[in-house]
Amino acid sequence: FEYVRKVAREQKESDAASQAHLVAQHYNARPEVGVEKRQQSSIIRLRSFNNWVKSVLISRHVRQDATVLDMGCGKGGDLQKWARGNIGYLVGTDIAEVSLSQMKERYQTMRNARFKAEFIPLDSYSELLAPRLAPNIRFDLVSMQFCMHYSFESEKKARTMLQNVTANLAEGGWFIGTIPDANWIIKKVRTMPKGQHEIGNHVYSIKFEDIKDTDDGNKVGFTPFGCKYWFHLTDAVDCPEYIVPFPTFQSSLAEEYGLELKFKQNFHQFFESASHEGDHNTLLRRMKVVGGYDPEMSKEEWEAAGIYLAFAFQKKKR
Ligand code: SAM
Repeated sequence: FEYVRKVAREQKESDAASQAHLVAQHYNARPEVGVEKRQQSSIIRLRSFNNWVKSVLISRHVRQDATVLDMGCGKGGDLQKWARGNIGYLVGTDIAEVSLSQMKERYQTMRNARFKAEFIPLDSYSELLAPRLAPNIRFDLVSMQFCMHYSFESEKKARTMLQNVTANLAEGGWFIGTIPDANWIIKKVRTMPKGQHEIGNHVYSIKFEDIKDTDDGNKVGFTPFGCKYWFHLTDAVDCPEYIVPFPTFQSSLAEEYGLELKFKQNFHQFFESASHEGDHNTLLRRMKVVGGYDPEMSKEEWEAAGIYLAFAFQKKKR
């Protein structure tokens, strides 16, 4: 029995590794299209909106000369935000090595990067980051934008991710991020007719494989970890993702790692509250998200914006 268990465990681990590989392959294969091509994308307003949310979230938690960890940093979509925040040091990590080297190149050609930076290729949901860092480095801010949900493939991965987030995070330091809003997604799936486990519109689709319908019309099978769905976002994403049930994330995990929830908002509410604030409103207009620009954000894009939520935890003082 011990042997059977061992083989089953190894099989599960190698399946998990191949899923991570699939995600890395997907992001590595996405070409660096440049500004002009990005402007032509059919989800240009959604991209700008998502960027605006990240800008606001980062500006609220960053401080001058901060040491920052950008985990799952991709091609460096937030480099300018770190420059604007006047940070002192940046560590960028990602499993997709091609994306990471594109970020490094971007950083090296930035004219306004006053901060120093290092880039570490790492599967940060399976491997520990601390041994790769300078021993006494302390992060003031850890940021995980649109990437943390991949770790909810298993409890072990989610724990490794949180270990990496908190190991070198200073007391009082911030952990911020953006993830799909499980509540929003599951609520929508539950409105679908019996046998249908897919939601979406022209811009996005979310399709579950392991959800079942009970006789009384309920949809069941939304497990706390490994609840996989296929996510498609036009011109952007096409890969397996995992539901992050917020109560599991907050109460069963983050609190155990000394993190206290200070802020959580679905992107729709985020827009309602932050879009009226002076500086953030100016930025929204500059990014042409609001104000009647052509093309305007479509209804479909706005619906897809609601998939996500933003959060901020603070590391408790002992
Ligand atoms: N944070 C960046 C941004 O907002 O522009 C990139 C977001 S992209 C949607 C998701 C990123 O998560 C990809 O770059 C992907 O390679 C990274 N990722 C997925 N699984 C990972 C893992 N196990 N370890 C590290 N990074 C991972």
